[in-house]
Amino acid sequence: MNVVETIAEMKRLRRELVEPVGFVPTMGFLHNGHLELVRRAKAENSSVVVSIFVNPTQFGPQEDFESYPRDLPRDLAMLETVKTDLVFVPSADEMYPPQFDSWVNVEGVTERLEGAIRPGHFKGVATVVAKLFNIVQPTKAYFGQKDAQQVVVIKKMLADLNMNLEVVTVPTVREPDGLAMSSRNTYLKPDERQAAVVLYQALTLAQGLWRKGEKDAGRIRQVMREFIQQQPLAGKIDYISITNAETLRELDIIKPPAIVLLAVKIGKPRLIDNIVLV
Ligand code: AMP
Repeated sequence: MNVVETIAEMKRLRRELVEPVGFVPTMGFLHNGHLELVRRAKAENSSVVVSIFVNPTQFGPQEDFESYPRDLPRDLAMLETVKTDLVFVPSADEMYPPQFDSWVNVEGVTERLEGAIRPGHFKGVATVVAKLFNIVQPTKAYFGQKDAQQVVVIKKMLADLNMNLEVVTVPTVREPDGLAMSSRNTYLKPDERQAAVVLYQALTLAQGLWRKGEKDAGRIRQVMREFIQQQPLAGKIDYISITNAETLRELDIIKPPAIVLLAVKIGKPRLIDNIVLV
C-alpha cells in the first residue's frame, strides 16, 4: 500500500494503477462504515484509492475542524486490512495553496437541511470532491448513504459539470443497536452514546408507520419529534424531514422513493441519519 502526500506524486502513481480504479474520499478516523465503502470499491474495481483529508473549507467557523478526531497510523493499518492500493493524505496547503481562488457551488439541492444549518458546507464539499476527482481520475467513486444530502449534491455536480465517472452509494453501516457509525460518535459520553440510538429508533418508527399505510408526512414528523423529545439527553432537533429521495423536496403526502432525514444534537455532537422508504 502506497501512501502519498503530494498531488504530483498521486498523479504519477495513479498512471500506474490497473483500471478500473475505485475511489473512496474520507476525512479519516476510519470505522467500519468507511471500510465497507473500500470493500465495495475493491469488489468492483482492479485498484482502490482512498483519500484522508480533513477538509477545512467544509467546516464553519464555529465548527469542530480543529478538534475533529485524527489518527493516521490507525487509519493506515485499517486500510491495509482491506487491501487498499493507494492512500492520498494531502496537507491543507497542498490542496489549498495561498493563491487558491476557485469554488464549486451546487445550488438548489444545497439550500435546505444540512445546507441551511451549515452555510458554505456544501461549497467546501463540492470543491474538494471536484479537486479529488481531477487528481485521482477514478472510474467509480463511493459515498455513504449516511450523508444522504452529500450524495445528492455530488450526483448533481457530476451531471451539471459533465464529470466522467460513476458515483456509487453504499448503505449506512450501523452499530449493533442501530446507531449509524460516524467518526463524531467518539465525542459521545457513555450515557449519550446509549441515548443516541433514539435517532435510529425514530427513523424505524417512521418506517413502521409508513409501512402500515400512513402517508401523511406531517403526522409522521410529529410522532418522531415527540419520540425524540422523550429522550432527556436529546438536545436541539435541527430538522426532521421527509422528502423525495432524489430532489430532497419536502413531501406532504409520502410517495416513494422518499427519505426521512434528521439531525439532532446529543451532548457535544450533532448527529445525522436517514432511512429510505421503499
Ligand atoms: P467522512 O469521513 O465522514 O467524510 O465520510 C467519508 C465517507 O464515508 C462518506 O461518503 C460517508 O458518507 C461515508 N460514511 C460515513 N459513515 C458511514 C456509515 N456509517 N456507513 C456508510 N458510509 C459511511
